[in-house]
Amino acid sequence: MESQIIRIHQQLMHKEISCTELVQEKLTLLKQNTHHTVNSLLETSALTLAKKVDAKIANGEKIGILEGIPFGVKDVYMLQGTYTTASSQFLKEYKASYTATSIQKLLDAGAIPIVKENCDSFGHGSSSENTIFGAVLNAVHPDLVGGGSSGGSAVNVAKEFTAFSIGGDTGGSIRQPAGYNKVYGFKPTYGRISRYGLMAYASSTDCVGPIAKSIEDIRIVLNTMSGKDVKDQTTYGSEVISEDLNSSKKIKTVGYYRNFIENEAISKDVKDDFLAIIEKIKATGIEVKALTFFDADILVSTYYTLAMAETASNLSRLDGTNYGARIEGENLKDTYSITRSENFSEESKRRIVGGNQVLSQGFSDEIYLKAQHLRNQISARFSEDFKEVDVIVSPVTPSSPPKIGESLNDPLAMYLSDAYTVGFSLGELPTLTIPKGTSTGIQITADKKQDAEVLQFANFLNDIL
Ligand code: GLN
Repeated sequence: MESQIIRIHQQLMHKEISCTELVQEKLTLLKQNTHHTVNSLLETSALTLAKKVDAKIANGEKIGILEGIPFGVKDVYMLQGTYTTASSQFLKEYKASYTATSIQKLLDAGAIPIVKENCDSFGHGSSSENTIFGAVLNAVHPDLVGGGSSGGSAVNVAKEFTAFSIGGDTGGSIRQPAGYNKVYGFKPTYGRISRYGLMAYASSTDCVGPIAKSIEDIRIVLNTMSGKDVKDQTTYGSEVISEDLNSSKKIKTVGYYRNFIENEAISKDVKDDFLAIIEKIKATGIEVKALTFFDADILVSTYYTLAMAETASNLSRLDGTNYGARIEGENLKDTYSITRSENFSEESKRRIVGGNQVLSQGFSDEIYLKAQHLRNQISARFSEDFKEVDVIVSPVTPSSPPKIGESLNDPLAMYLSDAYTVGFSLGELPTLTIPKGTSTGIQITADKKQDAEVLQFANFLNDIL
């Protein structure tokens, strides 16, 4: 697929469309859409910014590659003055008082945020049905879910309502909806992009990342958002990824996890398609190694234990005092309890209760610390594997997207559908979904900080698939 950013940039430069017309066109599409992708539109600010870009172009000034490009923001990012609801009842009226570093960098580059996008509340979910704004409908098959938690963002990109969108990925929330809606979605190495101003779900795996229609767009947006930030001590400085993604000759060995494919939960279609990709890679002369990894149920239970513990802790700040819709009770304790019971969704409450349970005295050694220990083992195993292979390919999900309503009845099945995404989150590894190969795409993963290698190999795979 061609780069939306470059295409729009050229149209603006050649005055084939004005930025105001472009932004207006996208806003209209967003307003009219029936996929429930929009939590709020940023109409006034977007049109003001568009006018400035138009004035610059009229003056004959040069514009940067992202200048005037309309983009979407998952509604978990702070963007000063905008409603920032996390798709929750709790924060329905909350307006951000500051702007996330990642979004600020895009603003500084001249990109124009036009919409806050629907998602699973606080990132809790895999279908974008856990939201007060209505379930997000899949871009391709509207009777199926949009995926989650960044469902609104992926659908907006797929439908070209936005040129790209910024999602958040804690355990797959960029990669899975990208796969479900047939677009690209990248979770960078943990720490490459600042989390400052991203509402915390599980801080130790939360990642900011782009969803887009081409690898080139992913690259441009990733480069713009990356970098060390004093406001997030887990960030590191990274090199700009160059335009030339054709150096994949470096990639000699590709691995895949045999037990992911032999897992009984995988659908026949996904399995057959995936094995066909492996054959195609082999046919190019690249060596392919079948590796064995931790079983999916271990990855899922380790991830959910830690994610629930961290979200219980992070969300304890929401009690109606500093943030959120307060509901008065008879006394303070009562107020907290009513406020939290009424405002959190069922799914979020399930996670807060579960998280507090695994952190509580008498359980934490058995459960929380065990999960931490397993996480270390998972990371160590990845390090070993990357001594043997340059990149790892895997399916994004075991099967195609569920119908609207199905996952709500069976949370456990929903958690298990994250089997192939959560491990790479625990490993802090850069992982990209490309919309090819299987019905829900393929993931490409490289070792920590090797984000460029992921994009290079994706470029190569795009050519052979
Ligand atoms: N589906 C996973 C979860 O609910 C991942 C969500 C995410 O990455 N925010 O935890």
